[in-house]
Formats: sequence, C-alpha cells, structure tokens
Amino acid sequence: MNQSKPLIISGPCSAESRKQVLSTAEALSKKGIKLFRAGIWKPRTKPGNFEGVGEKGIKWLEEVQEKYGIKAATEVANPEHISAILNSSINIIWIGARTVSDPFSIQTIINTMVTSNNTDVLDTTILIKNPINPDIELWCGAVERFKKAGFTKLYAIHRGFSSIEEKIYRNSPIWQVPLEFKRRFPDIPLLCDPSHIAGKRNLIAPLSQRAMDLNFDGLFIESHIDPDSALSDSAQQITPDQLGIILDNLIVRHNSFDSASAQIKSKIDFSRDEIDDIDMRIFSLLSRRMDITKEIGKLKKLNNIPVFQSKRYSQIMKDASKKANELELNPDFIAKLMRLIHAESVREQK
Ligand code: PEP
Ligand code: MN
Repeated sequence: MNQSKPLIISGPCSAESRKQVLSTAEALSKKGIKLFRAGIWKPRTKPGNFEGVGEKGIKWLEEVQEKYGIKAATEVANPEHISAILNSSINIIWIGARTVSDPFSIQTIINTMVTSNNTDVLDTTILIKNPINPDIELWCGAVERFKKAGFTKLYAIHRGFSSIEEKIYRNSPIWQVPLEFKRRFPDIPLLCDPSHIAGKRNLIAPLSQRAMDLNFDGLFIESHIDPDSALSDSAQQITPDQLGIILDNLIVRHNSFDSASAQIKSKIDFSRDEIDDIDMRIFSLLSRRMDITKEIGKLKKLNNIPVFQSKRYSQIMKDASKKANELELNPDFIAKLMRLIHAESVREQK
C-alpha cells in the first residue's frame, strides 16, 4: 500500500454480485483508485438483513486484482474468514468496529493467522477500525495485540462512535479520539471513513476535507456503481463519479510545520508561547477554585448539608451559558467544560 498521501481506498459496502463488483472496480480504476474495498461477510446489527455473499465473493475480488491491477481488501471477523482469505491472493484485511470492541475476537483472529501454514502471513496489511464506543484503550489494545504478534503493516481507520445524543452523523466523529490515537501511534497511518461517520451522502465531502485538515493520511470511502440499489448502507454510498469529484476538490495541505519559512514559524511559535501561558493561568485558577470548593466541602460536612445542591448547579450552568454568549464562545463547549469542573468539585467535596 505504498501510495502518496492521501491514500484512498474505495469500493462498495458489500460485494453483491460479480457484475456489481467488477463494474464498480472498473469505474474506480478509471478515477485512479488503486485500492478497493468490499465486504463479503457483513456484520449486521439485526438478523434478516443482507449478510454478505460469503466466500464466493473472494473470487470476484481476485478478479478485480487481476483485471484492473487494483489491490482488494475485505473485512474478517473470525477464523473461518481468516482461513478463506489466507487461501486466496487477498492480502489486505480490515477488522470492523464490532470486532475491535471484543479483545477475545481480536486475539482469536491473530492466533489463527500466526498458527496458519501461510509463510507470508505477517505481510498481511491490516486495517484496524476504531471500536463502536469511544474507548481509545480498546482501539490501541487491538493495535498492540497485532504489533506484539509481529504484524508491521498496520493502518488505523476512524469510523466514528455510536452515540445516543448524536443527531447529525450516523456515528459521532469525536475527533479528539483519533487525534489521541495519532499521538500514541505517530507511525501508523490513520485513515478516515467518512461514509460510516456520515451515514448519508451529502456529508462525505465535508468530512473528507475535515480529515485532510486534521492531517489524516487517507480516506476509506464507500462507493457503488448504483448506490440507490445497494443491499447495505445505500444512503451513504456514492458513485465512482461522485468520488472523483470529491477527490478533485479536496484541498490537501502538504506543507509540514518544519518546512514553513522562518518568519511564519516564529509567528506561530510566538502565538504558541502565548497559548502555553494562558493554559498555565487556567490551571492556577482551577487550583484556586478547587481549594475554595474543598473549604466549602468542610463547612457542608460540619453542618450536615448535602454536597450536591441542584439550585446552585442550575445557577452555575445558567451563568456559564450567558457568559459564553457574551464572549462568543460555543455554549455547548462551555456547558461541557462547566459540567466537568463541577463534577470534579463534587468529587473533591465527597
Ligand atoms: C464496513 O466498513 O463496511 C463496516 C461494516 O464498517 P464498521 O465496522 O465501521 O461498521
Ligand atoms: Mn458499510
């Protein structure tokens, strides 16, 4: 998978028929796509939905590789999938969000791979999606298990997180989680899957741009020759032509901080110093705030007053929202911050 940045992997959510797979791959190859995705075993939340074509799809993916010189990838989740893939010419696999959520499954996949007779097994390229829930440790844990077993061709995919609060996206992007992943594993290329974050076509382009602005290494995008007739994830799939337009309009910022001119660097450094100074002042103020809440905590205890006072809490949140509006700060951000600070004060008082 040695392609220049951004690395693009695209193809249908599911392989549905030989014709659909080959026509999608042909159209994608005309757009310059070199890496193809298609699920043949589909993890479905509920029974009764299309669960993939199974092993017969492997042949179609092999045909794509031979015909168009494209490398194909598919999802694996258990030892049967692994055995079928190891008997084929496919050597890129991805581990889906549901599987990454389960360390037993990850370890079983790894054990099946390393104990197979396939001598090239450690050359397999492995794309590891984030788990369903925003648990950075589970995601990193899966990566560490593969690393420990000797796999080196590892990639991570950010596909968003399931959330009951989310209204815009199918899976909430919670960008700080993939950015923390990148901080922990700077050498593992990080791709963004805007399709599973968005759940709908019109958000694929802005999410792809967002990922580029956040310095992601590539995109994993679902595309289908006829998205409206897709048997899975129809609403989020785009045509190869639409993918071409999105990629043509993508602004990729190649310049690293280190390559910037001395003048720009010194401007940014100056502002960073200012930010560092502000952060330190915020911490000092927080420390002072905690000291005061501890004093109040003692008084409450001595006088048998419960720690949590809902009237006071409502007032704090109301004042914060008013101030946020005055200062043109995002009120949701300020509400989140105040909830955190308040929860920590309550914890200290207890
Ligand atoms: C997929 O990529 O088709 C898929 C099932 O994704 P996820 O595991 O992210 O839900
Ligand atoms: Mn899908």
